[in-house]
Amino acid sequence: MRGKSKCYDELYAYCETVPLVDCHDHSVKLGPKYTDPIQVIIGEYFLTDLGSATTEAEARILLDQEIPWEERWPILEKAWQRTCHTGYAQITRRVLKKFYDEDEVTLDALHRMEERLLDLEDKTRFEAILDEAKIAVRLADVWPDVKQVLDRIYELTPRARLVIPLPAYHRIRDYMGVQELMTPLGRTVTNLDEYIDACLEIFEGFKAYGAVAFKDQSAYFRSLNYSNPSRAEAEKVFNWFMEDPLRSASYPDGVQPLDDYLFHAFMRMARDMDLPVQVHTGPPAGLYGDITKANAAGLANLLMLHRDVRFDLFHANWPYSGEILFLCKAYPNVALDFCWANVIDPVYCQNLFRQALSSVPHSKIHGYGSDFGGFGYAPGGGYVDRAWAHAQIARENIAIALSDMVELEYLSFDEAREVAYAWLFGNANEFYQLGL
Ligand SMILES: [Zn+2]
Repeated sequence: MRGKSKCYDELYAYCETVPLVDCHDHSVKLGPKYTDPIQVIIGEYFLTDLGSATTEAEARILLDQEIPWEERWPILEKAWQRTCHTGYAQITRRVLKKFYDEDEVTLDALHRMEERLLDLEDKTRFEAILDEAKIAVRLADVWPDVKQVLDRIYELTPRARLVIPLPAYHRIRDYMGVQELMTPLGRTVTNLDEYIDACLEIFEGFKAYGAVAFKDQSAYFRSLNYSNPSRAEAEKVFNWFMEDPLRSASYPDGVQPLDDYLFHAFMRMARDMDLPVQVHTGPPAGLYGDITKANAAGLANLLMLHRDVRFDLFHANWPYSGEILFLCKAYPNVALDFCWANVIDPVYCQNLFRQALSSVPHSKIHGYGSDFGGFGYAPGGGYVDRAWAHAQIARENIAIALSDMVELEYLSFDEAREVAYAWLFGNANEFYQLGL
């Protein structure tokens, strides 16, 4: 993409020099080591566009490595022709051009690629691509082995700083689930007090390891609308299932008082531990998600109550731009994070960057988060090739938005450079106290 404003090229060139804080990454390990060219095309999120353009069943066939890739090609070809203009397809196009020098998705191109598929398990290669993208640090949401974290032997991928994964700790619904979470402490808990104390001990262990934030993506499982139940209501649910290991509290109504109560308790811990909280808002990954549950507007009461907690609301709340602008403008404890969103919908982000400049303090915007590794062909693999393409798109989106605003004489070119620096690096560095 190339902006139309006179200063676009110069501003984009500047953005290319600015290092990035990658606010959100799921690289559990190095990788993937691609073994067939179709993997390179569908990568991770693009699979959902391919599925959306055809059928879920056909998307599953694309993933099936038991079938030779040439036999899967006709399905890919049809799907590609139907969805080659999305943001995710932009990533595929850029990866093809950069790493394989191919301009088109064709059978011939795939045959040529087959000879030189990237091995991203190679640490030197992995880091070289991070260097090229100028990714300085990555906030890693990687669901680690908790015992290894507490023992401080857990190994992160290059440049990663850990975040504390929250959902499992407030989604509890039965005795066994509770005790499994406590395994790393080697302890059996018997009541709610013990459970909450143990959670705090685990979270403090994460912080001692180096964790820089909490992360919650409960919008995949429940509404973000947290009520404020009493301790007695929560304890009643907890005691009920603890009394008999065969019992399981029902979803959603049976578990909600406990789930909500614990989430508030964890927010108080975040405040006392001085760690920000990353919250998934907006689109669930994959097909057939429920977007209404995930609208950040549902968080209003929670954000209002926990004024001393710093919240980073993810994915630009796509597609609810108005709600996220309001929250970020009116709530001092809320930041707007564009992780993942820059490639879900580049034009949405260009518009939102422009609108955010004119409505929200520019110190509250975090411009980039790669968000690869949780999904798709090689779950856990870093897809750093795609993180590179994503970084380029994020820089373009910001340069397009800000250069347009310079053209409108809304701000000067030098001011636009300062804002771009803050959005790509400075704001997140400060917000997460990364000390870079
Ligand atoms: Zn994510």
